[in-house]
Amino acid sequence: MNHYISQDTTFKIRETIPTLTIIVPCYNEAEVFIHCVNALKKIIVDLISRKKIQQNSYILFIDDGSKDNTWSQIIEAANQSAHVQGLKLSRNRGHQIALIAGLSVVETDVCISIDADLQDDIKCIERMIDRYMLGNDIVYGIRNDRSSDSFFKRMTANIFYSSMSAMGVNQIGNHADYRLLSKRALEALLEFKEQNLYIRGLIPLLGFQSDKVFYTREERIAGESKYPLRKMLGLAIEGVTSLTVTPLRLICALGFLTCFVSFLAIIYILIAKFTGQAIEGWTSVIISIFFLSGVQLLSLGVIGEYIGKIYMETKCRPKFFIDEQIED
Ligand code: UDP
Ligand code: MG
Repeated sequence: MNHYISQDTTFKIRETIPTLTIIVPCYNEAEVFIHCVNALKKIIVDLISRKKIQQNSYILFIDDGSKDNTWSQIIEAANQSAHVQGLKLSRNRGHQIALIAGLSVVETDVCISIDADLQDDIKCIERMIDRYMLGNDIVYGIRNDRSSDSFFKRMTANIFYSSMSAMGVNQIGNHADYRLLSKRALEALLEFKEQNLYIRGLIPLLGFQSDKVFYTREERIAGESKYPLRKMLGLAIEGVTSLTVTPLRLICALGFLTCFVSFLAIIYILIAKFTGQAIEGWTSVIISIFFLSGVQLLSLGVIGEYIGKIYMETKCRPKFFIDEQIED
């Protein structure tokens, strides 16, 4: 590695051509699979011919327990090309675990994760490799804007990311799971043994030199989103509970506030009683019972969410099982 010193950064320029794995988690992606495999194969072949990556680079498809014929299409593609490999999980475990399953079998110098619908611009793959050669261990794919999202998705994502940053969580804006990791960054990521997995929140915790490439995200070409509202909410809860305990502190603050308001109310009630102004206060009693029970239940729910996470972590269950693996 040579050192190239620019005005404010020292780049450790890499000289050896890397081997690359492109990791693609797939859940019921039969409708987009052919398009995906052809486009990615073209990129791999082109990068090999221009000596940007080694000949033994490949695409690794992870079938996350699909119910359609995604796996048989992966087998067929692997039979036709040395640049295609596959991994089949024993059942559907969700995008994050499918991704970590793929990452855990990677042996190449670099890996790039991307969704099967190729909404993320595949031209960035080459730019990511270029940034890797400049000495970066992590290269984030960043969306320029969210215009290809529905209004609802855009709004909920904005609320989620701004509340995460208000809670002090350092996340890379407009970045999902399209990124390059060097071998050592990947090894560092795999040191995180937690069940409560929110990969995009863990990557900034790794450190190492990183860079960003920007692109415009297209709409899904076929099939429907595999992230319905239920899964999106699940991912958001994983994200919050994985990265911050601020919600627990907020509950504490809310408790203090309620105590303070109750204290004022007690003074008022006592004054009213001793000055003979006490009246039958059905409305206020009922409202406060409903309100305080709501606050208490919500608070218990948040605390329960964290206790549930502790419970799952203590079991140290294996995150996934590999059913089949096709290698070159
Ligand atoms: N995915 C997965 N397991 C799941 C759900 C999704 O492996 O349980 C994969 C899916 O096949 C795709 C990626 O995760 O490659 C992202 O899903 P999608 O494109 O549907 O999400 P969106 O872009 O709508 O957020
Ligand atoms: Mg998508």
